[in-house]
Amino acid sequence: MKTYTCYYCEHDTESAHLITFFQGQQEREELLCDTCYADWLESLKSEP
Ligand SMILES: [Zn+2]
Repeated sequence: MKTYTCYYCEHDTESAHLITFFQGQQEREELLCDTCYADWLESLKSEP
């Protein structure tokens, strides 16, 4: 089974979530594991 490396915690994960975010002017796509994806969603909610 293919695994992915989480962009945030750098652990291998089998279920990856693709996120898109802007870093300066540049749009980036990265993969997050379940835990980091949940954290990322939370951080979106808390930011204006
Ligand atoms: Zn992670």
